[in-house]
Amino acid sequence: MTRSVLPGGGDHPETSAEPLNIEDPVGRLPEEWQAALTAVGERPFRAKQLFRWLHQRAEFEPEKMSDLSVSFRARLREAGVSAPLRVDTVHESKDGTRKLVLEANDGARVESVLIPMTDLSDADAGASDEEEEETLGTKSRVTLCISTQYGCAMGCVFCASGQAGLVRGLRASEIVSQVYLAKRYLRPDEQLSNLVFMGMGEPLHHYEQTARALRLLTHPEGLGMSPRRITVSTVGLTPGIERLGRDFAGKIGLAVSVHAPNDETRDKLVPMNRRYPVAELMRALRAYPLPKRRRITIEYTLIDGVNDSLDHARELGAILRGIPSKINLIPMNPISASELRSPKAEAVRRFQDILANAGYSCFVRTRRGDEVAAACGQLAMADDLVRKKREREDLRSLAKKS
Ligand code: SAH
Repeated sequence: MTRSVLPGGGDHPETSAEPLNIEDPVGRLPEEWQAALTAVGERPFRAKQLFRWLHQRAEFEPEKMSDLSVSFRARLREAGVSAPLRVDTVHESKDGTRKLVLEANDGARVESVLIPMTDLSDADAGASDEEEEETLGTKSRVTLCISTQYGCAMGCVFCASGQAGLVRGLRASEIVSQVYLAKRYLRPDEQLSNLVFMGMGEPLHHYEQTARALRLLTHPEGLGMSPRRITVSTVGLTPGIERLGRDFAGKIGLAVSVHAPNDETRDKLVPMNRRYPVAELMRALRAYPLPKRRRITIEYTLIDGVNDSLDHARELGAILRGIPSKINLIPMNPISASELRSPKAEAVRRFQDILANAGYSCFVRTRRGDEVAAACGQLAMADDLVRKKREREDLRSLAKKS
């Protein structure tokens, strides 16, 4: 039997090896691995090797990392290197949308959605420009929508996650492994072309882990995704928008849930507007260091009788003036926690026409994955959470009464 030579010597190096202490191991960057490995006497080049296993090959079982020594694999296992999420169920809708329900070690459940891009929906994902077209092959493109939190603290009135409240943020390892696991469900003629942080949660309310996930996913030794193919969607937390712009030099695509062109209406829909009102949000969008030919995606969930008037449309056109943007109108998907409804198709079309006539690219986002509850704001998990929250509240009020 061969033994590795470790600092401190000793007759039984495998057992006397210093334990490798590393938090959220699958969420570490190569330089962090290098520091951690050097500190316990492992060779620094192992860091890259290991990072590739985890983030390029999506292999989380140390036993299967065949080019690492047996003792090193054992150390990794002890340090907690294992799959951050496991696939619970996969639901496939007739339109090809696949919803993955994933489970974390503590039982938190995460949803990710694979959405085949059609010509129409092409317009609503992270958007590719001509330069990007050249680097894509001939396979059909799929957008993946991932979650950053289990529940959400933002409280938007039309969104099931918002009504559920926040249970916990996901670790960077849990955010990125949604991508690695979802890739296994691509068909041979499909490729993952865009990634959108538009699932459950508010990515900029969970900035550290979101930014770490972005670094992991774009790292050349890992998946090496182009930041231009990634879009982060936010309710409009302006300090987070500034930070994202600064930390990634504007390369990460930005989508903003505007939903109303003035404070009066927006205050009612998006509680965070009271903290970061419309004018401040528009200032942050103007300041985002957007590369040339790129645009900010403006999301606008249309709600019958609330934010869908022709005046709202005109006002939206006015506040966005000068911001390179494209507008996605999302007729509201019904949720159990709210009476609010989508406007009639005709009203949606009129709203769209006003913006189109004002010179904006404006798309109505088609509803995808309906029968598997994969549409915006409808992720079934969120509905479950809302139900649980209601039950808790009912119990509390019963306890008060008695
Ligand atoms: N917190 C982020 C990302 C998650 S929500 C954000 O606010 O952008 C992704 C998008 O779905 C947002 O634009 C959100 O407003 C929209 N959405 C949520 N619930 C919806 C519903 N019931 N119908 C239509 N769109 C909804």
